[in-house]
Amino acid sequence: MTEEKRLAKNNRIREKGKETRLRRQSQICRVFRVKIDFSHLNEFEKTQLKMIFVEAKWLYNDVLTFSNSNEINEYDYKITTVHGLDKDKQPVIRELEYLSSQMKQSVIQGIKHNIKSLSVMKKHGRKIGSLKYKSNYESINLQQYGNTYKFCDKKHVKIQGIKRPIKIEGAEQFFDISGIEFANAKLLNLPDGYYVAVTTFQHKGGGTKKYKPEIGIDMGIKTSITTSEGKKIKVFVGETKRLKKIQRRIAKRKKGSSNRYKMRKLLRKEYQKLDNRKKDKANKIVNELLKHEKVYMQDENLSGWQKGFFGKTVQHSALGIVKAKLIKHERVVVLPKNIATTKTCPKCGKINKDITLSDRIFECQCGYKEDRDIHAAKNMILLSKNTCGTQGIFYPNAFGEDVRREHKQKCCNADLDELGSPNSYERG
Ligand SMILES: [Zn+2]
Repeated sequence: MTEEKRLAKNNRIREKGKETRLRRQSQICRVFRVKIDFSHLNEFEKTQLKMIFVEAKWLYNDVLTFSNSNEINEYDYKITTVHGLDKDKQPVIRELEYLSSQMKQSVIQGIKHNIKSLSVMKKHGRKIGSLKYKSNYESINLQQYGNTYKFCDKKHVKIQGIKRPIKIEGAEQFFDISGIEFANAKLLNLPDGYYVAVTTFQHKGGGTKKYKPEIGIDMGIKTSITTSEGKKIKVFVGETKRLKKIQRRIAKRKKGSSNRYKMRKLLRKEYQKLDNRKKDKANKIVNELLKHEKVYMQDENLSGWQKGFFGKTVQHSALGIVKAKLIKHERVVVLPKNIATTKTCPKCGKINKDITLSDRIFECQCGYKEDRDIHAAKNMILLSKNTCGTQGIFYPNAFGEDVRREHKQKCCNADLDELGSPNSYERG
């Protein structure tokens, strides 16, 4: 390629990038997961899919070793063999047969990214460790739609390096949306199977939607969510019998035995299923709540509940996910923790301090009486608008802007944790 051609090409790429960024401003980003139908693959393809992740792990660990004593940018991504240790910790040389060059690049880029985010955290005064070797590689980036992966139709996806299109489940969620655009995707190796998580962009819908009237919600332990309309929503997802059975069986197996290892794999799968059910439930609840024009809620301290005597009930509840999803939404008003939503009487405005957790009915001297949770949910709306009580109880600007900012910050840090925290690498 001549110098002139090269410059022209760079220019084209730059222009295209600009164009895309401009278009993205009027689009919303959503990530969908489709499951790979493993049973429809032939033996070779099954090995291929498995080995992609094994080789990615080998490569990852090799790059990590390299980066300990060298500049990571000097690592040759065209490499076809890597160094590693076998079961008895003896050095071996392994060949990379299944990993495509783009996948190799994405593994190496992933490490670079992690190193960078670690150094950012260090700059901000956070305590950091170093990256750990992986025993399991979970996610491979498929950089470019049409190049590293492509949907053939609703039921099939083509992935670079694998000859036949792969049968998938779940593309109906997004395939027929008009004007949908696909960005990058991730090939995932999860305890319950292989997935492709695809990032999509679609047009923001016009703002002429009709909403239901505004609603207040109270999050509690027993029924979990109560609305100001008097509806009680259960968010508890029960442990399966199978999970308990597996846990019991693991306890009986010898530590370090291959049987125990197998059982632990099963356990991870069960937890993944439980997690999926929780997410599903949370999505449905959030979707239902957001049909209302505005949702009023309080920033309740759920992690505090977990430590306390409510433990397991909270652990298996989708409440945390529901809260996290709602708090970020623009049509949700969040009241700060310190506002007494349960104790304040909406009629006279008196704060009834002697209400305890066991009082299921709120009763005020002025004669007002209501179910405790419904009362609290109704109060969310009233207190947010400073219209609670005739005596003029007034919470200056109860709208929880600060809460939201604080929460967003926490979320960002959590993202960093997932990328860079040394602890997150020692899974499984
Ligand atoms: Zn009262």
